Amino acid sequence: MRSSLAGELRRIEAQGLTRHRRVLESPQGAQVVVDGREFVAFCSNDYLGLAGDPRLVAAAREGAARYGVGAGASHLILGHATAHHALEAALAQFVRLPRALLFSSGYLANLGIVTALAGREDAVFADKLNHASLNDAVLLSRAAFRRYAHGDLDALEKLLAASRARRKLVVTDAVFSMDGDIAPVPALLRLCERYGAWLVLDDAHGFGVLGATGAGVLEHCGVASERIVYMATLGKAAGTFGAFVAGEPALIEILVQRARPYIYTTALPPLIAHALLAGLGIIAAEAWRRERLAQLIARLKRDVAALRWQLAPSDTAIQPLMIGANDEAVRVSEQLAQRGLLVPAIRPPTVPPGSARLRISLSAAHREQDIAQLVDALREIERKS
Ligand SMILES: *Cc1c(COP(=O)(O)O)cnc(C)c1O
Repeated sequence: MRSSLAGELRRIEAQGLTRHRRVLESPQGAQVVVDGREFVAFCSNDYLGLAGDPRLVAAAREGAARYGVGAGASHLILGHATAHHALEAALAQFVRLPRALLFSSGYLANLGIVTALAGREDAVFADKLNHASLNDAVLLSRAAFRRYAHGDLDALEKLLAASRARRKLVVTDAVFSMDGDIAPVPALLRLCERYGAWLVLDDAHGFGVLGATGAGVLEHCGVASERIVYMATLGKAAGTFGAFVAGEPALIEILVQRARPYIYTTALPPLIAHALLAGLGIIAAEAWRRERLAQLIARLKRDVAALRWQLAPSDTAIQPLMIGANDEAVRVSEQLAQRGLLVPAIRPPTVPPGSARLRISLSAAHREQDIAQLVDALREIERKS
């Protein structure tokens, strides 16, 4: 047993795929402390800079005073507190859908949606670059798993047209987590309407960031439909933790009754829900955070254009700098760290083989000078390599 694990670890090492964790000593943010040293970080999904916001910290404290620390039970037993209930109503209103349901994480929400809606007689159609949690969800559901090439609507249409499944689900990241591009939601919706399928949208990276009020990809694309199963996470732009699903009342009620990752897990600590209630108001009111982020994205794209390494086409806060080889991506990431800049190298199996990259993620908390420092460092590393 032990030697087979050691052999597996050696193979991971030989492929340049060993992963290491850094220990973060400060709150998450654009400036962080790791191993006693300060860095400018381009690693977090804290796109609006809210993870350490003093107002959210104060709300969490108030929530702890009012509700204690732990939920102590699942939602269906006695873990569903006033704060959860109020937050679900506020989230539904925020994304302009009839009803919302909290989950303890985005991973669990995806498992819950797909396993509650699809089984052996059903089929799930999935973009090849979807998040791992959506893929795991399909495997767990035992539905037929049909994957189409990234963004290939013709391929999707052929699969839908050929399917005799009882229920059809098209599932997609709304903003692709390692590429940053936005799914063609209106066109996907038209296909779903034509072939009687549901459209499951994972808006982990759009919620709070896309749309004038931060309501996410639906606001950004100006679409609404009873076929949409909308999922977003609350640990990214919302700066906190958890996730929710929103849609038609019957859909939400089925999830309450059937979604095992909803039923068999402890509810989020209610203090988190209390902090999120405060956070939602800030997300909507402080449009300057989205505007600032857009300026930083434009600045990065303009400055990187002169480098040999190129950014993948993306208009979101996720800006992948394509490197190619695993070891080179790791080396560039390490050389940036030596210069006080943290940018994660993303390697297979998270991304397809040969497409290792630096995943630069921007936040409204970054300063113009942070971008300038990053681009200068990349230019210098490129020149020496
Ligand atoms: C982060 C992420 C998830 C998982 O959400 P958690 O709340 O972190 O479990 C799901 N889908 C996508 C696209 C993500 O980026």
